[in-house]
Formats: sequence, structure tokens, C-alpha cells
Amino acid sequence: NMLKIAVYGKGGIGKSTTVSNMAAAMADKGLRVMQIGCDPKADSTILLRDGKDEMKTVLDLVREEGDHDQFTLDEEDQDSFTLDDMVRVGYKGIVCSEAGGPTPGLGCAGRGIIAALTKLDEKGAYEKYKPDVVLYDVLGDVVCGGFTMPMRPGYADYVLVVTSGENMSIYAAANISMAVEQFKNRGYAKFAGLILNRRKVKNEDEKVAEFAEDIHSKVVGSIDRSDLIQSAEELGKTVVEAFPDSDLSDQYRQLADSVVAECEVLSC
Ligand code: ATP
Ligand code: MG
Repeated sequence: NMLKIAVYGKGGIGKSTTVSNMAAAMADKGLRVMQIGCDPKADSTILLRDGKDEMKTVLDLVREEGDHDQFTLDEEDQDSFTLDDMVRVGYKGIVCSEAGGPTPGLGCAGRGIIAALTKLDEKGAYEKYKPDVVLYDVLGDVVCGGFTMPMRPGYADYVLVVTSGENMSIYAAANISMAVEQFKNRGYAKFAGLILNRRKVKNEDEKVAEFAEDIHSKVVGSIDRSDLIQSAEELGKTVVEAFPDSDLSDQYRQLADSVVAECEVLSC
């Protein structure tokens, strides 16, 4: 039974770092993991791919295809690109994909993401790799209908939000939790909790715990602010891969366990 989890949060709060480390921790445990970046910057999975190997986004591939379509009359799936063009296999077999984004100023990011996720499905990504866990890394600090797209039925079943104790990130988390609440009766994703990515704000743990209570949720895991993240980043790796014996790696492993446990409880 595939766990499909979308991780949201304000821009720059640490979504990609947190999701990649969580993915690495899950893969270390033997889970088959797929991580899909839903962010125009397309840098979600870079730490799982040794920090290099610039990959094309699904939307880039679709757009290039559109240029060719003018000259053909095909209706069937005759895309010139394949599943292999849309994914890279990274650390411990983690299947990495970057949805990409619309041309700046044109189009809705949410719709682009759905187009990308649909393509992955059409090309058999889930059948081929049979992931136990699919992690969507979603930039969602905008109050726009589009950013709720990955919460739609058939995509993510669970939503987690990364926040620090800073007001702006709590504000973004509140908006996201409200959006999930609005749609909950339509088969959309369930809210599975908050991930505290510490910024060393005063009374940070209390503040975020209080916020979790306000939205009738909980903090499923907490990560310290640490220079190890930058050190690992310089190696093009997650902390879990580069410094597996660190306290920080323990925190990511605990987070990964709690997230899986929480989603399994909610699935009943
Ligand atoms: P975006 O919205 O732009 O996609 P993001 O939410 O994915 O951003 P990241 O790219 O993961 O954020 O992190 C932003 C920066 O914060 C990175 O340089 C990362 O190294 C740093 N960072 C994230 N978490 C921590 C942490 N716990 N301690 C120290 N630095 C961190
Ligand atoms: Mg990111």
C-alpha cells in the first residue's frame, strides 16, 4: 500500500532539505522511495543525486514535445521522451523526478504540476518502481487554488508542513492547513502534522507546539538548525548520507519513522 505524502511550507523554510533527508532515511530502512519536486526551481532532489547531473523537468519535456506536435498528427502516446528521461535513480535507489514549473508570468504552477504528475503516471512510473512511499516536495506559501492541486484525490493522501517558529512560516503553515481543512470532505489529502525545522527563535518549540494545538494537529518531528546541513550540501549529499552517525541524522530517522507511523494511523 503506497503512502503518498506531500510536504508543504513557506519558500526557503527547508522543505527540500528535510524531504531529501527523510527520503534517505526511509531508503536506508529498505523502503522503496520516490521523491517528486513540485517547484519551478527544480532543485528538490539534487542532494540525492550527488549535487550534480542537472536533469530535465517533466514540464520541460512536455513543452519540447509541444514544439514537435505542430508537425505531427499523432493522438496516441507517441511522445519522443520516455519514463527514463523523466526520472533519475539516486541514493539507495530513490527515484527522483522534478515536475518543473510554468514559464514565469505564464500559466498556473498548480496545473503544471498536475500535468507533470499525470505524465509520470501515464508513463508507468508507479508500476515500474512500485514505491512504498512517494514524497512530493511542494512550494506552497501562496494563497492560490493551484497550490492545492497535489492534495487532490489520486495524488497525495497526506499533507505535512515544514515550519520554524518564525511568524511568517507559521502563517504559511496556517494557510496550508486551512486549505486542507476546506477540502477534506471531497476525498482530498488528510493533514498529518507539522515538521519543526528549528531556526533558534525564542521559545520556538513551545510556540510551534501551541500552533499545532490551535489547528488540532501535532508536531511529528523536529530538526535542529545545524551547520552540518551546509557541510553535507557542499558534498552534494544529504546529512543522512554524509554524516550518518550524527545527532542530526538520528533526528531525520526519527522523523521518517514518525511520518510513516502517523500516515499509517490516518489510513485506517
Ligand atoms: P524553496 O522554497 O526555495 O524550495 P526549501 O523550503 O526547499 O526552499 P531548502 O532549499 O531545503 O528550502 O533550504 C533552504 C536553505 O536552508 C538551504 O541552504 C539549507 O541548507 C538551509 N537549511 C535547511 N534546513 C536547515 C537546518 N535545519 N539547519 C541549517 N540550515 C538549514
Ligand atoms: Mg525546495
